[in-house]
Amino acid sequence: MKKTRLARNKKKIVILGGGFAGVECAKQLESEFGNDPEIELVMVSEDNFLLFTPMLPQVASGMIETRHIVLPIRTICKKTKFYEGRIKNVDPYGKLVTLWGTGDKRSVSIHYDFLVIALGSETNFFGMSDVEKNAYTMKTLNDAVMLRNRVIDMLEQAENETNPILRKSFLNFVVVGGGFAGIETAGELMDLLLDARKHYPTVHKEDLKVIVLEALPMILPGFNEKLAEFAKEKMVERGIDIRLKTAVTSFDGNEVTTKSLDENPKDPVDESKIDAIRTKTLIWTAGVTPVNTIKRSMFKTDKGKVIINDYLEVSDFPGVFATGDCALFLDPETQRPFPPTAQIAEAQAKIAAKNLKALIKNSKKEKFVYHSKGQMAIIGKRSGIATFLGMNISGFWAWLIWRNVYLSKISTFDKKIRVFLDWTIDLFFDRDISRLKLMKRETEKEYKLLDEVDDVW
Ligand SMILES: Cc1cc2nc3c(=O)[nH]c(=O)nc-3n(C[C@H](O)[C@H](O)[C@H](O)COP(=O)(O)OP(=O)(O)OC[C@H]3O[C@@H](n4cnc5c(N)ncnc54)[C@H](O)[C@@H]3O)c2cc1C
Repeated sequence: MKKTRLARNKKKIVILGGGFAGVECAKQLESEFGNDPEIELVMVSEDNFLLFTPMLPQVASGMIETRHIVLPIRTICKKTKFYEGRIKNVDPYGKLVTLWGTGDKRSVSIHYDFLVIALGSETNFFGMSDVEKNAYTMKTLNDAVMLRNRVIDMLEQAENETNPILRKSFLNFVVVGGGFAGIETAGELMDLLLDARKHYPTVHKEDLKVIVLEALPMILPGFNEKLAEFAKEKMVERGIDIRLKTAVTSFDGNEVTTKSLDENPKDPVDESKIDAIRTKTLIWTAGVTPVNTIKRSMFKTDKGKVIINDYLEVSDFPGVFATGDCALFLDPETQRPFPPTAQIAEAQAKIAAKNLKALIKNSKKEKFVYHSKGQMAIIGKRSGIATFLGMNISGFWAWLIWRNVYLSKISTFDKKIRVFLDWTIDLFFDRDISRLKLMKRETEKEYKLLDEVDDVW
């Protein structure tokens, strides 16, 4: 009898998304409610792991083994019931989350009492369908593996190619976007190319070109300007061509066309200089946008992000919180949205968990105030930049700090050790240049809603 009453009164907190925000929120809630029989914790995510994105470019460059930067959610959130599935719909009136079914997966509907939306973002191509079709991206584990294979393939093709124009397009690599992802990818890519080149006798150092295209007048926006300038100079010294105020207009798989956004063009008649670069590989890292599930949801959004109040709660739906890349929270100083970073996602997840506890225990909620712990980026060849403990650091020491900080952030001991060993091995051996033809871009799955077998949990 007691058991039945408990089951009925049990409050269910459902977390959508197993990224930085979702996992951090689950960890905080587990420490508060993990042993509370009246609270049930549930997480739904498409992948059953947390992807440690700061090290994704190092997977693309073959420095770190693929599985070493993914952390299985079941091993880090042991008191949370986990559903691996793609969310189809969230009904905040009926308090119901529905998952897609496929040919071999049943569709499921999950009831909630409280909800945390942490669905992150996906690559934004700003409506350029040719770029979307032909570009490589750097957002998922599959992207990193695909890019590594592509780079090796291009070296293989170039080695035996006699047509100089074609050869050049094999060895030109264009990275679009001068943010974290773009800069770190360009640095790692150059490291991989220089390392792998030794095995390709006809490919010379000067044949290899990594070009970064950035629409803004600087790289790494939001970073200390001097550090960003240092990063740019170091990368240029290494032979990376950085073109600022340059926007991509198209990419057909063979040639990328760009438009100069220079406010004071040398030729006043030709206000937007058009240029073209022959390349077979364009890596698009120029922006993210919240996932479609959010955009077509019933929540109020702005540029696709869920609008939330100071407590990270969706105002129209008490008990529903949104955090991380998919939530719109304005920086009170600049009145602009915070940048999409793992650091902010985790900070918001902590406050969302605190405020859920406050709702359940009828105590006072806390406003979200962001205190940056610093910023760091690596730019290749054991160099980096960091704003850490109030200090601006560049070069080798920044690179070392980056490694220590991010290693400490990997939450399972075995993965820490594996990454550390990968780094150590890289000090002594060349990169592996075997091209694994295992992965291909995932084709659109045929999702279906199997009404007749729907389960409501
Ligand atoms: C290459 C790269 C390097 C980066 N480097 C840094 C860095 O050095 N420092 C830093 O602070 N930030 C960095 N970032 C940014 C950081 O990764 C993001 O800001 C962070 O992941 C946001 O966390 P989140 O929880 O909001 O979203 P995510 O981590 O993206 O998690 C979203 C989760 O939701 C799931 N999901 C989405 N849609 C659905 C659906 N329909 N159904 C089911 N599940 C779904 C996804 O599978 C994912 O698990 C980097 C990003 C990239 C791509």
